[in-house]
This record gives sequence, structure tokens and C-alpha cells, in this order.
Amino acid sequence: MDDLRFGTRDKRGHFHPLQPAQPAPLWQRPFSLRRVIAWIPEFLWPWNAFHLATALLWVHVLIPDWTSLQTLSLRNWLWLYGLNAAGILLFFGGFELVYYVRRVQGRRFKYNPKFPSEAPSDVFWFKSQNLDNFLRTIFVTVPLWTVVEIVMLWAYANSWAVWLPWGTHWLWLSAVTLAVPFVHEIYFFFLHRLIHTPFLYRWVHSVHHNSINPSPWSSLSMHPVEGFFYMAEAWLHLLIPSNPVCAYFTLHSVGFGAINGHLGFEKFEMPGERLLDSHAYVHYLHHKYFEVNYGGDGLVPLDILFGTWHDGSKEADERMKERFRRKKARQRSRSPADTPAE
Ligand SMILES: [Zn+2]
Ligand SMILES: [Zn+2]
Repeated sequence: MDDLRFGTRDKRGHFHPLQPAQPAPLWQRPFSLRRVIAWIPEFLWPWNAFHLATALLWVHVLIPDWTSLQTLSLRNWLWLYGLNAAGILLFFGGFELVYYVRRVQGRRFKYNPKFPSEAPSDVFWFKSQNLDNFLRTIFVTVPLWTVVEIVMLWAYANSWAVWLPWGTHWLWLSAVTLAVPFVHEIYFFFLHRLIHTPFLYRWVHSVHHNSINPSPWSSLSMHPVEGFFYMAEAWLHLLIPSNPVCAYFTLHSVGFGAINGHLGFEKFEMPGERLLDSHAYVHYLHHKYFEVNYGGDGLVPLDILFGTWHDGSKEADERMKERFRRKKARQRSRSPADTPAE
């Protein structure tokens, strides 16, 4: 398929979608109910439906029985870790294999024309972004994900958290499920904004930002502090009347769903000339420019509210540069002694 029907390529080969990124239709002005209704299938399918399906699979089929979860055991942790690692290998590894190793789509719809394997760098373990990101995912973030998970299950198994049954509380639990992607955007925005403060950025978040040209394995390549607090969003369910399925929906939206911002392609070509939207552009721009788009792709428009939204357009670029100039000027006026003579 000709990707230039959907975007342009600059001189350096970078792909820019024709349409600037937009927040969810709920926040677009003028408000259009028709647009919101037309957007609902895209909101549900396929990404959120996939996370909900895996949540159901884990709770009803894969996790150990609830009696054994009443005590924290290494055996259960190892089982859960094995499940998560296998799930991530299949899901992230599948995208990696198809689009980055076999490159079935070539560079069509790829934002950055380079593949990470073509750019060895000293910032990565073994000078390899792929190997570094893979090892950090499997041996740092997924083990911490499993710690969050087993503690969550332990709390439910001992009735320390309010576990509502679907039969009697289906309306409330449906509302909680529907709220999960929105709450995730809010939680992620504020956690992410926090780790962009200078000290935490330097010691924690810079690990994730080593990948300027992210690929699937970059998604959960994090410093352990970030990995733990990122995954701990699922514990919010322990604070409200909820259900393990809803808690797993958050856990998997956060864990498996991290891939969306790091796919590196605007769209995937599907059989029958169909295209699957990756929802990767907004977070791709965050990796490119660092101090924009702290949230997801506009389900809750916090970046618009805080003036850090970048939709990929030239105007947004100018706004960003102006913001950086003002920030620099502020820093200079605060510490004139540090300013070199010009
Ligand atoms: Zn990222
Ligand atoms: Zn960041």
C-alpha cells in the first residue's frame, strides 16, 4: 500500500501523518455526538478488547486457585511470572518478529526510517537497543509487574479488598471497566510528569528515554523504580469496590498496552486493504521531543490542558520551541552566575 496517501516523508525519510493527532472526539470542539458514536468501536476494538480478553483468561483459567493465593509463595510468583513473560514474548515478540525482524511492511508507515538494529549505541547494554530493551523488560519490569500482581491477588484472596460479584453489581463493575482506560491516562500522565522532574529524570526515567526511536521492546524497558510505580496502577482497584477482572484489565492495559506508544509505525497493513491504527504517534513524539505529550493519545486531554500537547504539526513544533525558549530564559534569570558570557 502507498503510505504517502496518508502522510508525507521529509528529506531524512521521516514519515509524518497528514492529519495532526487529535484528542478523543469527546473533547473535540465543536462537539459532535455522531463523531463520538462513530469512535466507540475504535475505542473498544481491538486494543481494549484484547486487554479485557486476556484479563478474563488470566482470572478464570490461568491464575493459581484462590486458596493458595491467600499466602504469598515463591511457587505462585514463579508461575505468574512465567505466564507474564510468555504473554509478553508472544505479544511484543510477535510485533518485533513480524515488523522489525522479517519487516513484512518494510518502512511503509514507519515514522523513523531507521530500525534500531541499524544504530548501535553506547547508551545501551551490549550497544544494542533491542537486547538492552528486551533484557530490561523480561528481567526487570515483568518481575516487578508480577510482584504487583501477586500482592493484588493476595489482598483479594484474603478479602482485604472489596470484591464485588458481577451478578449483583454488574452496572457498577461495567462502569469501573469503562473507566479503566480513562483512569490509566490520568495516572500515567501524573506519574510520567513527575519522573520528568530533573532529579527523577536523571536517575530513573532517562533509562526509558534512551530509546529515541522506540520499538516494541522499548515499551517496558524501564528503571525498576519506574517499572514498579507504572505497574502499581492496578492497586487502585484495591481502594474501591471492584473485582479481580477489572483489576486485571488495568494490569494488562498497562503491561501489554505499553506497546501502543512504541510500535514505531502509524498503521499496520491488514488483509483486504484494511489498515490497523497503532495509536503510536503521540507517544512517538514524546520519545522524539521529550518534553511534550506526557499522557497517552488524548483519551483525557491533560496535555492540552497543561500546554504540552504536540500533534505533529509545524504549528505545534513552533509552540514547543517557544515554550523551550521561555523555559531557558526563566532558568537563566534564576541563575545568572551559571550563564556563560555570550
Ligand atoms: Zn515510552
Ligand atoms: Zn518520558
